[in-house]
Amino acid sequence: MADKRDYYEVLGVSKTASDSELKSAYRKLAKKYHPDVNPGDKEAETKFKEATEAYSVLSDAEKRKQYDQFGHAAFEQGGGGAGGFGGFDFNGADMGDIFGDLFGDLFGGGGRRRANNGPMKGANLRARVNITFEEAVFGCDKELEIVLKDECTTCHGTGAKPGTQPVTCPKCNGEGQIVYTQQSMFGMVRNVQTCPDCHGTGKIIKDKCSACRGTGYTSSRKKIQVSVPAGIDNGQSIRIRDKGEPGTNGGPRGDLLVEINVARHPIFQRQDMNIFSTAPITYAQAALGGEVRINTVDGEVSYEVKPGTQTDTRIRLKGKGVPSLRNKNIRGDHYVTLVVQVPTNLNEEAKEALRKFDEACGNKTSSGKKENTEKGEKKKKSFMEKIKETFEE
Ligand SMILES: [Zn+2]
Ligand SMILES: [Zn+2]
Repeated sequence: MADKRDYYEVLGVSKTASDSELKSAYRKLAKKYHPDVNPGDKEAETKFKEATEAYSVLSDAEKRKQYDQFGHAAFEQGGGGAGGFGGFDFNGADMGDIFGDLFGDLFGGGGRRRANNGPMKGANLRARVNITFEEAVFGCDKELEIVLKDECTTCHGTGAKPGTQPVTCPKCNGEGQIVYTQQSMFGMVRNVQTCPDCHGTGKIIKDKCSACRGTGYTSSRKKIQVSVPAGIDNGQSIRIRDKGEPGTNGGPRGDLLVEINVARHPIFQRQDMNIFSTAPITYAQAALGGEVRINTVDGEVSYEVKPGTQTDTRIRLKGKGVPSLRNKNIRGDHYVTLVVQVPTNLNEEAKEALRKFDEACGNKTSSGKKENTEKGEKKKKSFMEKIKETFEE
């Protein structure tokens, strides 16, 4: 037997590592080197076994103590160490416990799935539908074309030529899988493989049905109506029952899962049930207040801007958002950020008006003092009116 590496070294942890450190170190290695992840890779298999052995010893307080005291000798056959544990059983309960504890169904049962001759539901099909922002908000009906498999009417799904029957696969005796054990340096290892002759069905077709070339199915394009509910969001799926693959042995069909892909909108953004957008307002509107028109999914609405509105002020249009998927009468809100537009390309008249406006605000008086008289207020107001006239046609 080749020189064994130190168990702590194998797991890459210190001699004082806690149980949870051991567990996470092993989990990481096992995920990387598990045979189901690296089929046929001998080196990965060896590393996986090495890590599993190290973990099984170090995760057991009693065994760890022995190992710390005697090293690998503690576990060798006829062990030199006092109270040696004998050979480590790689097939037995040790392994099962480790996997049950650590992984659950992380590896999808790891090929331990049994051939099933009872009724089985067919696989689900997936499709994708593109819709607009507004269609997502208000719902829509879409037609989708998919290729659907149906049981072959000539052979009734058996795949065998009419008058003949599929026979039990001699290679796996109808089990659909082959179990073989392998001698490894840690003992016997049990492996399960899908039968290569019958591909897991347990049956072999000698005379194939000519209508379906032995598959048992025929395919055809079918149109499917998809009713997209109001309020659906990008990435959500709609389940259409019984439009998936046919079941086997009399099982029901699978479902069709339609993923909804919502196009970006040029001005609206969405977050759950709320809609966000920005709307420009003029300098004069911001200063003096007034009516602005704002785009919503329900069309243009009128909004009264308060005098003295600052740029980036956020307003809420209640109930102008996205309906709830559960109840379309409940709607989110639409938040609008008002952005004050600083005028560019001013003509002379407008420039002059602005200069006077600035003066009236007291920003440009020669003395540097603010005009705060009653007269000044009056002057300011008249300039404001003028600016409003200039900017608003
Ligand atoms: Zn057929
Ligand atoms: Zn077989």
